[in-house]
Amino acid sequence: MATALDIAKRNPNAASLAVSDAARAAGQTALSIEKTAETTVVAGAAPGGASLIGLTRDQLKDSLAAIGVPERELKMRVAQLWHWIYFRGAKDFSEMTNMGKELRARLSAAFTLARPQVVSEQVSKDGTRKWLIRMPSTGPLDKGAEIECVYIPEVDRGTLCVSSQVGCTLTCSFCHTGTQRLVRNLTSAEIVAQLIVARDSIGDWPDATPPDGAFVPSDGGRFVSNIVFMGMGEPLYNTDNVIAAIGVLSDNEGLGLSRRRITVSTSGVVPQMERLGAEANTMLAISLHAVRDELRDVLVPINRKYDIKQLLDACRAYPGLSNARRITFEYVMLKGVNDSDADARELVRLLKGIPAKINLIPFNPWPGSKYECSDWERIERFSEIVFRAGYASPVRTPRGRDILAACGQLKSETEKLRARARMMAEQGIGAEGVYAVGNGE
Ligand code: SAH
Ligand code: SF4
Repeated sequence: MATALDIAKRNPNAASLAVSDAARAAGQTALSIEKTAETTVVAGAAPGGASLIGLTRDQLKDSLAAIGVPERELKMRVAQLWHWIYFRGAKDFSEMTNMGKELRARLSAAFTLARPQVVSEQVSKDGTRKWLIRMPSTGPLDKGAEIECVYIPEVDRGTLCVSSQVGCTLTCSFCHTGTQRLVRNLTSAEIVAQLIVARDSIGDWPDATPPDGAFVPSDGGRFVSNIVFMGMGEPLYNTDNVIAAIGVLSDNEGLGLSRRRITVSTSGVVPQMERLGAEANTMLAISLHAVRDELRDVLVPINRKYDIKQLLDACRAYPGLSNARRITFEYVMLKGVNDSDADARELVRLLKGIPAKINLIPFNPWPGSKYECSDWERIERFSEIVFRAGYASPVRTPRGRDILAACGQLKSETEKLRARARMMAEQGIGAEGVYAVGNGE
């Protein structure tokens, strides 16, 4: 079941305002809020053709039917596979001892349990881990996309920052991902596979143990207890696959993450927000970053399509919103741009009546970025105003600086980018989404 996927075409909202990079280079940037996708890729149900890793129940059912498993057995066989793949973390069909030898032989002849390739793993002094993961090629035009995934352990939780797209079609002016040219949606399997890779690496399966010296939560819970969609890409431009992936991630008979511990961060794709709440029932984070439309139009250009009022109305209507299930508003602190006392007061005024948390994110500069991070005193003062108005306003401590634990900033698609990443390493540039973690419980 192969589907041709062209992000720019698939996304009806994108089409009217998408402009080519050539037009952007020619200075026609006033209307450009999105880039067109660079390539059209063919994304199959199983990345790499035959791995079952990351598949939904329906996709597993189709795979089993394709090798001749009779209809009447399908449900039971899917349940067995599900348990082995997602509960136990099986890496080989031979482990699946409650399935007959003959079926196991047929499975291994047709499929694998291969994970996407871990190109590199870096471990920070503070325990943060970053993986560069290469997805198998999905067709002749796809070289095998590389994405980053970051694990941030704390005493009482472990948060995985996952990507939803390779690159991003949007062009937020402070975000490095927005400068990357190659864009494609990740399949739901590729999204789920990021958690499988992380669990393999930190020994987060029954009977597995973490590597020597690894920092993992010590509260007796899962090592990965929370997931944030704060890596590369705009999750709500890939809503179908994100929702399907969340279904797999939160399934109680498998990976079993609580939906309340999954947070989807969006730059404000208003028409998709209701659907996310109704179908995925996860926590929501909004990349607000500005309190006036003129400024948000520049920082988060999707604002030209869905302005602050429309965005906040959609927040008020978010299914399941309550004081126990607040929306997180992310606000990156940009020196002299959005960090005045008046901005803080306006932020509080705008969010009135919305059960909210405010996450102040120190701006994480990158080579060529035109902004600076606000001074620490300014961030404290801003935070104080927000706090006095009754909001918890944690300022995220940068994590994993020594390994550049960035979701998105450092994906090395080409040698040129690799060189740039090295340069960033030398300059000690750190994460972006990593600042913004901390969701729900
Ligand atoms: N596309 C989605 C999710 C990925 S970005 C979104 O925009 O919400 C995750 C968070 O990191 C967003 O709030 C984003 O605005 C923020 N971010 C991006 N670049 C950053 C940078 N250089 N410094 C600090 N935060 C950044
Ligand atoms: Fe894309 Fe989010 Fe970066 Fe904007 S902040 S360019 S939406 S990843």
